[in-house]
Amino acid sequence: MLYFSDFDGTLTTDGRLTREFFEIMELIEKKNQQLIIVSGRSLSWGHFFLTHFPLKACIMEGGGVILYLNEKGEIIQEPLVSQAEIQGLADFTAKLTKQFPHIPLSADSFGRLTDRAIEFHQMDHKWIDDVMKFMDENKINYSKSNVHINFWVGDISKYRGVVKFMQKFHPVLKEEECWFFGDAPNDQSMFELFHNSVGVSNIEHCLDRLNHKPRIILEGPENIGPKGVLSFIKKL
Ligand SMILES: [Mg+2]
Repeated sequence: MLYFSDFDGTLTTDGRLTREFFEIMELIEKKNQQLIIVSGRSLSWGHFFLTHFPLKACIMEGGGVILYLNEKGEIIQEPLVSQAEIQGLADFTAKLTKQFPHIPLSADSFGRLTDRAIEFHQMDHKWIDDVMKFMDENKINYSKSNVHINFWVGDISKYRGVVKFMQKFHPVLKEEECWFFGDAPNDQSMFELFHNSVGVSNIEHCLDRLNHKPRIILEGPENIGPKGVLSFIKKL
């Protein structure tokens, strides 16, 4: 059995790691199972996850890069887009900051390999529209979340990251034997295409904005974020 899970809002509560998060870590380790965090956070965060928690792999930057520990315990990072696409993104980012010198790139953009992020809350509507138009003209992929405009070059999604991970590490395991937990629109590729998906109860805030909903939606305050993940895993 493999568990895949989003991080922010799914394994954290109001931006904090709580007792339930550590209980999930202990439970998975005790059961000799594996949890793979699938997050939009940067590559550098993936290094943090693999060095500080009992995890063997994670999928970062919204599916742009897989990180795993090899037999020697070293962290190996494997981008899921080509070197040309990584370079294309770096080149476009330089072009973007030349065109919009004051654009607020997120503080962790320098630690990102396969995507970048803009903190658009400091920008007015016209500026945001101009930036998105500029991206369209340059054939750059982007998505807008509550806090960021993430942009990238190439084919990147959480689902594609999970599929690539399974092909490489668990080629005979069926999707039906795995679970994914999420809480937000950036988990939709998993809700749409992955067989077993679960939304923790705080997903209710964005349910009406989702084009694809998880197969199981947990309810009630006892199932918010990691509380929901923990009790679901316990019952399996
Ligand atoms: Mg989330």
